[in-house]
Amino acid sequence: MKNAVNKTISGIIEIARGMATIMKHFFRPSITLEYPEKKPDLPPRFRGRLALLTNSDGTDACIGCKSCVKVCPCVDLIQIETSKDPETKKIVVEQFTIDIGRCIFCGNCTEICPKNAIVSTDEFELADYSRESLVFDKKALTLDPEKSQRLRDKKEKEVK
Ligand code: SF4
Ligand code: SF4
Repeated sequence: MKNAVNKTISGIIEIARGMATIMKHFFRPSITLEYPEKKPDLPPRFRGRLALLTNSDGTDACIGCKSCVKVCPCVDLIQIETSKDPETKKIVVEQFTIDIGRCIFCGNCTEICPKNAIVSTDEFELADYSRESLVFDKKALTLDPEKSQRLRDKKEKEVK
């Protein structure tokens, strides 16, 4: 009989403890998110999908120096083909490919770029059905001048 009473009392205490924990968390703001209906607030330096910027006149900001290729820890992830303009003698970037499926988003390429031509965007929903569709060519990577300027402004604010 005494044993049954003790068990009942300890059961009541445990229920009270459980209820106290529920009440403690009930009034706290939720830390989970109803994704994908609600999107997370990303930190300012979030490193998402890479993109190539253009100048205000629509020309490539990239000068084809290939520093990003050298600094990327994943071999052959960035591939760049260049040629030399016979008239201006300037390097022309013919092809620029990034295999985003293999990218580890370390940001090395964006840090090393002397022209800030390659940047991280806040795009993170990159899932796809094939690895091939995650290989982005120059056209897919290049942003128009307006978007490019927006990203430049954002990057400048981060530095300040
Ligand atoms: S973020 Fe890192 S892994 Fe991805 S392309 Fe740039 S250097 Fe390579
Ligand atoms: S993106 Fe930057 S680092 Fe890479 S080739 Fe172009 S200018 Fe050079």
